[in-house]
Amino acid sequence: MRIDIISIFPEMFDGPFSHSIIKRAKEKKLIEIFFHNLRDYSKNKHKSVDDYAFSGGAGMVIMIEPIADCIEKLKSERKYDEIIYMSPDGDLLKQKSANHISTFKNIIILCGHYKGIDERIREFFITKEISIGDYVLSGGELAAMVFVDTITRLIPGVLNDETSALSDSFQNNLISPPVYTRPREFKGMKVPDILLSGNEKEIEKWKLEKSLERTKHRRPELFSEDD
Ligand code: SAH
Repeated sequence: MRIDIISIFPEMFDGPFSHSIIKRAKEKKLIEIFFHNLRDYSKNKHKSVDDYAFSGGAGMVIMIEPIADCIEKLKSERKYDEIIYMSPDGDLLKQKSANHISTFKNIIILCGHYKGIDERIREFFITKEISIGDYVLSGGELAAMVFVDTITRLIPGVLNDETSALSDSFQNNLISPPVYTRPREFKGMKVPDILLSGNEKEIEKWKLEKSLERTKHRRPELFSEDD
């Protein structure tokens, strides 16, 4: 998958995108990430990309022109499955939509800042808006990092054990069962006997029971979500 990220702070991605799963996915060429600094598309000498809102009030708005120019340029080079704007009022990011998006070939992710972006971009250029939760961040960069991490680990071949993403929480509308590792006993705290029994069938049954129990207590609404 090719991911083009449009941002006024592309350096923010340096740390998170050079470690762990995203690093590995890039090395395996399973994802390619390109950054486009909006300031490079500014037509004024100070390289500014924001201006006062016509409505008045506090906060600057990112102008239509640099964003439109950047998106137009990218679109002239290849076809995109989605042009995504990270936005607090977008569709809430969920595992199900992440599964779907992880199958795409090319996507653009636009990060806003300040008060947001000129509405005409949302109306005429953006094909999908994604929120990572009902709270407001200072910019779309952190949201884009969360989103890119979520979809990257779902791309086949990225995780070593391909089934491990499938057994995570929210796949199949269930919360994951608890997990344990060595030692078997720590200061009197024991690992459940069943997990040490070697009885695969009973262990699977236990895991499913725990998953159902957790989902019932923590996220009962998942049971009624569509597949
Ligand atoms: N004035 C806007 C918020 C702007 S926040 C409002 O009240 O809705 C600045 C930028 O941060 C946004 O343009 C968006 O790209 C990003 N952002 C903020 N919160 C976000 C969230 N929960 N999910 C995704 N992006 C978010």
